[in-house]
Amino acid sequence: MNFKNITIAGSGVLGYQIAFQAAFYGFNVTVYDINDAVLEKAKAKFETMSNAFKTDLNATQEQIGKTFKNLRYNSDLEIAVKNADLLIEAVPENPEIKIDFYHKLAKVAPEKTVFATNSSTLLPSTFAAATGRPEKFIALHFANTIWIHNTAEIMGHATTDPNVFNAVVEFAKAIGMLALPLHKEQPGYILNSLLVPLLTAATDLLVSEVADPKTIDKTWMKATGAPLGPFGILDVVGITTAYNIDKITAGKTKDELKIKTVQFLKENYIDKNKLGVSTGEGFYKY
Ligand code: NAD
Repeated sequence: MNFKNITIAGSGVLGYQIAFQAAFYGFNVTVYDINDAVLEKAKAKFETMSNAFKTDLNATQEQIGKTFKNLRYNSDLEIAVKNADLLIEAVPENPEIKIDFYHKLAKVAPEKTVFATNSSTLLPSTFAAATGRPEKFIALHFANTIWIHNTAEIMGHATTDPNVFNAVVEFAKAIGMLALPLHKEQPGYILNSLLVPLLTAATDLLVSEVADPKTIDKTWMKATGAPLGPFGILDVVGITTAYNIDKITAGKTKDELKIKTVQFLKENYIDKNKLGVSTGEGFYKY
């Protein structure tokens, strides 16, 4: 199984990054989205991406030129997927949208096409039936700013073909990713299985008035050698994400501390537009 033609479905925050990364590494990439106007926006973002590749990866103008030649765009799903060896789905994190997308895709994709979802929180087994080809379906999970934070978590579901798994691992390596294979399905993959409890524990300590963010971060950084502490990480990820996760947990568990955390984050950070690095201030000033 050798992938050459890649289709990326969804050209939002992650989709356009995956498309540019694969095109940069020499793959023929077709970008698919719901209409041409959205695709035009993606094209504009590729200009910004090329500057980031020059600054962060020392990419030459020649490499950038070749990258653009490897990129095609189409808002007709049947045409966009016509020659695809691999389709990477990066449509919104909403099960209904994804299931609807896989039903449509299953009708038009060639038999050879492997489907990979970039979903952060939904398990591939949720969509396996809708794909109509569970054995050729897998999760390939990237992190935001993939050219710098180049992790690719690869996770099959119970009936993913091992050859498909191995081919996706090889593809991830071929586009400059650090391939991180998981042996079974795990909500949150490896990264978020580790990170979410750390960040939650940190906000619990803060909201319980045990210690302030700087002391908590200093403890973690000095004791483990990590470059950032949990509050530094929260500023990078965006405090809104933590707030949304805590809100869901508070709603489900009715846990008093979680409810207090949601209020605390809303009053002190969300309402004051202190959302982290993106707004110039969160737990720290930037
Ligand atoms: P986004 O909202 O920025 O982009 C989604 C894109 O999908 C948009 O361009 C939208 O027009 C398009 N879209 C909507 N409906 C569609 C359909 N039916 N068919 C095709 N395209 C459609 O979302 P995102 O942040 O890029 O997230 C996409 C996926 O990547 C999600 O599953 C998310 O969990 C995952 N992910 C996101 C991040 C992140 O940091 N944003 C990181 C890792 C993984």
